Amino acid sequence: MSAPAPIETDAVVIGAGPVGLFQVFQLGLLEIKAHVIDALPYAGGQCIELYPDKPIYDIPAVPATTGRELVASLMRQAAPFEPVFHLGEEVASLARQADGRFLLGTSRGKTFLSKTVFIAAGVGAFQPRRLRVDGIATLEGRDLFYHGSPAEDLTGRDVVVVGGDEAALQCALDLASRGLGSVTLLHRRDVLQAGAAALAEMQALCEAGQMAFRVGQIIGFDTRVEAGESRLSAVHVSDVDAQLHVLPADRLLVFQGLSPRLGPVADWGLAMARKQLEVDTERFATSEPGIFAVGDINTYPGKKKLIVCGFHECVLAAFGAVAIVFPERRTLLQYTTTSPRLHQLLGVATPGKA
Ligand SMILES: Cc1cc2nc3c(=O)[nH]c(=O)nc-3n(C[C@H](O)[C@H](O)[C@H](O)COP(=O)(O)OP(=O)(O)OC[C@H]3O[C@@H](n4cnc5c(N)ncnc54)[C@H](O)[C@@H]3O)c2cc1C
Repeated sequence: MSAPAPIETDAVVIGAGPVGLFQVFQLGLLEIKAHVIDALPYAGGQCIELYPDKPIYDIPAVPATTGRELVASLMRQAAPFEPVFHLGEEVASLARQADGRFLLGTSRGKTFLSKTVFIAAGVGAFQPRRLRVDGIATLEGRDLFYHGSPAEDLTGRDVVVVGGDEAALQCALDLASRGLGSVTLLHRRDVLQAGAAALAEMQALCEAGQMAFRVGQIIGFDTRVEAGESRLSAVHVSDVDAQLHVLPADRLLVFQGLSPRLGPVADWGLAMARKQLEVDTERFATSEPGIFAVGDINTYPGKKKLIVCGFHECVLAAFGAVAIVFPERRTLLQYTTTSPRLHQLLGVATPGKA
């Protein structure tokens, strides 16, 4: 079967953090449509991943907001321009083609042909923290899953859930009511970061023998051969007293949080300084014409890693892209307050017009 044709577009924004989202808005005002790709399964970058409910006090004209509220507002602001989101996939490759456009490839095998690229990759793509157990990576996607459950029917299976946060506990609670062989929640400490109601539910399920809670760390595993394949059969757990326990396990679901990894951005041949992309401050262009970098991923004299600085960068980068996307067009600065054309693009009424 031949690979699907690349998605052709004027702009690809890599990263759906606050700066990537505002980049979409600024491109939209200049009539440049964008596809947005993020490794996370949701938009918001650090704001959602690291501090969703903490207050932010330094967004201009917004005395106080939270990571979650800011991202929701940015999504609403960008909505009139109908960005197409591709979430849960990392941009793995980026290369210029003979016709001057860029070919991008994602971890899920999607490809894009774009006239311009905006790298808003922040501190890198957020990746699950993986188990550090020799050889266990070979089970990934089959018996070992990070931040999710397999779609298959798990009836009768022994499942070990690893982690101590709300997501890990909720996963174990959901599984405990589904008639599995056994469900064990395993955490390295005896304190879980979860709400009182979820903790009470866990206690009740443990008392009813529908799930178990163990304290310890996985240090090894056993496999058995099933249909010619090597499949997980047990995990070796070292408890706080360094005693070894062997727990039956057909599936291992791991929730150990996410950490950013700069990853492929460093492999695209762009000029970098201290793991950040060097840009000019007129257009926030990288060393490769047509590729711009905005937000925490870039560096220039005086750079401050603040959302407000990233927002400013988006404006100039969008204007920098017009000459590439619409080489024949002379683009003038228009105010959103007064421009009928911008009102049309934003889908709002122009004051005084019927
Ligand atoms: C605890 C904390 C509090 C903060 N408080 C404030 C504050 O009060 N005010 C303020 O201005 N700033 C604050 N910041 C900083 C602010 O969060 C960052 O400046 C901002 O998030 C940068 O936005 P960004 O869009 O550039 O990058 P990010 O928010 O990091 O988003 C980048 C996105 O790109 C994705 N990505 C990266 N590489 C790839 C790839 N190859 N393929 C696909 N996707 C990729 C990532 O998954 C991520 O979602 C705070 C930061 C932290 C950690």
